[in-house]
Amino acid sequence: MSNLPDVLKRCNMIYEPKGQAGEYAPLATNPYRGCGHGCAYCYGPLVTKQKRPDFDAGAVLRDRFLERLWRDAQRFQAAGVTGQVMLSFTTDPYHPGDTAPTRETLRILAAHGLGFCTLTKGGTRALRDIDLFRPDRDAFACTLTSMSDTFSEKWERNAASPASRIATLRAFHARGIFTWVSLEPTLDVESSLAIIDATAPFVDLYKVGQANYLKEITRTTDWAGYTQRVIIKLQRLGKAHYIKRDLQKHLPAGYHNPLRVPQYHGERAAA
Ligand code: SF4
Repeated sequence: MSNLPDVLKRCNMIYEPKGQAGEYAPLATNPYRGCGHGCAYCYGPLVTKQKRPDFDAGAVLRDRFLERLWRDAQRFQAAGVTGQVMLSFTTDPYHPGDTAPTRETLRILAAHGLGFCTLTKGGTRALRDIDLFRPDRDAFACTLTSMSDTFSEKWERNAASPASRIATLRAFHARGIFTWVSLEPTLDVESSLAIIDATAPFVDLYKVGQANYLKEITRTTDWAGYTQRVIIKLQRLGKAHYIKRDLQKHLPAGYHNPLRVPQYHGERAAA
């Protein structure tokens, strides 16, 4: 992506995530402001400078988003940049409202030679767009914090149930699409370990982070012990993984922990 810095300077809908989000993807776009999933741990209101009740009221398409995305995608295409763009960090592409623009977003990215990855808690809502995902270019991902509906309803009150998210991962995997799971935030160690056991047959990659800014959980969890148990389990299952920076101090010295692995199947030239 040698032309990337120049292209990014001229784009405003496709951007380079920084900080903790930057650990997830080199490129991203957020079609909406707000999100109706109502996750108690969401940092979206902070990043988008919205009051939490406004953010939680539901996702609204950003002003002229599709038109502006098209222009950005044209710039990427003209520069020969063909990387994968992630949806989304400050909203959910399959929130409970009207997600028709998400489908248009994926079409625009693909039409300009870009790959895409969706990260969602929308569960089976994402199946509407499964036909657009290409095994050799795209990825599908879910955040999972628990296998329990009751636990999820407490923390992610309007998100799809864990069972719905897991069924959707399974469906994308069956279509040959690269799948990954975000185990961040980790709200309960045993729950996150159970998620790995339950999903390993149809998940290609795990990204593991701790819980930040959740005083009691952040302070009382044995993060060193968690990190050890996670990597032992993932190694035993032969699953690719990335341990996020917050937990990296607990990794053994020299541990192989690549920040970026290809999030698609099959061979293609690196962008
Ligand atoms: S799904 Fe993501 S963006 Fe939406 S409320 Fe939850 S954490 Fe925030």
